[in-house]
Amino acid sequence: MSELRDFVADLLERRGAVVEALGLERLEVLAPESLQRHLGWPELTHLGFGTQQAQSTIAIALEGDWLDRFGTLLGGEGRWTEREVRLPAAVRPPSDPERVLDHALELPNAIWRLRGLSATWTRCLILAFRITALSDEKRERLIWLGFNLGTGGLISDILEQLRPGLAQMADWHTPDAATRHAAGPGWSAPKLAARLRPLLEHEARECSEPFLRAMRRRLARDRDRVHAYHNDLRSASLKRLAALNRTDGDRVDADRRREALRVEAIEREYRAKLDDLRRNYALRVTVEWIQALEIYVPVQRFEVLIRRRKGERIIRLDWHPLVRMVERPLCEAGLGLNRARLVCDDKLHLTDLAGHAPCTSCGKPFCRVCFPLACPRCRKTH
Ligand SMILES: [Zn+2]
Ligand SMILES: [Zn+2]
Repeated sequence: MSELRDFVADLLERRGAVVEALGLERLEVLAPESLQRHLGWPELTHLGFGTQQAQSTIAIALEGDWLDRFGTLLGGEGRWTEREVRLPAAVRPPSDPERVLDHALELPNAIWRLRGLSATWTRCLILAFRITALSDEKRERLIWLGFNLGTGGLISDILEQLRPGLAQMADWHTPDAATRHAAGPGWSAPKLAARLRPLLEHEARECSEPFLRAMRRRLARDRDRVHAYHNDLRSASLKRLAALNRTDGDRVDADRRREALRVEAIEREYRAKLDDLRRNYALRVTVEWIQALEIYVPVQRFEVLIRRRKGERIIRLDWHPLVRMVERPLCEAGLGLNRARLVCDDKLHLTDLAGHAPCTSCGKPFCRVCFPLACPRCRKTH
């Protein structure tokens, strides 16, 4: 809980309050008038962060609406920032680069050769998103995605290792001109959007999957109950109708019409009940961008020559001394969550296996970067 307490203390101080910690779970806040108005507090307030709170103390927890109200104090601040990360101590580059690459690269249809390894800077983009799945219940998840803008690699796994260390590094350097120059330019919005879309869709699906399973079970149970109820009513009505059909007479005619109308009404009600269920169980998933951090980090850059049939191309792959890890190779189509890449014949694009999957209609495997919309043989869109 102390992280939350520190965050609140920090924020309130920045907004002009005088904050004093009373033990681990309490803050005493002397708020200026603007804060008093904004938060509806008196001049002197006690905030509690534990489970047991004294009376007259405002309990602050991750649940409840206080975090949202503190969020409004932040406004648009803290949504984007940049930082140059310097190595706390010299780190020796990998002594056997070929072996490192051997572990990083898996190219079933091409060969590679190491062309060089050199120290440089790169620019990494770390993005945080909130995924919310909303139905008769609500689930939320925070996810972090990261790209190395210098190589194109997805480095979410490396950032996961890097983030705790970054949080502990107290010194915050703004990138200087030489570092920026060495790290190279950023990406255009369309390029970033194209890379993000499949990854976010994948994450949103992952996030809602357990939720969907539970919902499908509840939906099936409710649907069965609605069906059983209306089915009983309808069978009884149909049975009466069959009996009436075996007899004659004016009265019987009227009864028959009434019974037929009843059957129709039951069917109508059944359909309406199913529509209600569909509405009740509709799932809405939203993905919301929260924060972006651009970090400039020192790397050891591998230049790798890739050969496929008559073509060849150079790709870059960075080894990150801060966590002593090499990133996964660039993936130009597909999620690229593992390290296997297929290389296309014409342009030597690197894709994951799905990015070069056979056409679902004619079975021809093809590169989804070269042919993003349709199969080149049978023209089936995918
Ligand atoms: Zn096809
Ligand atoms: Zn291609």
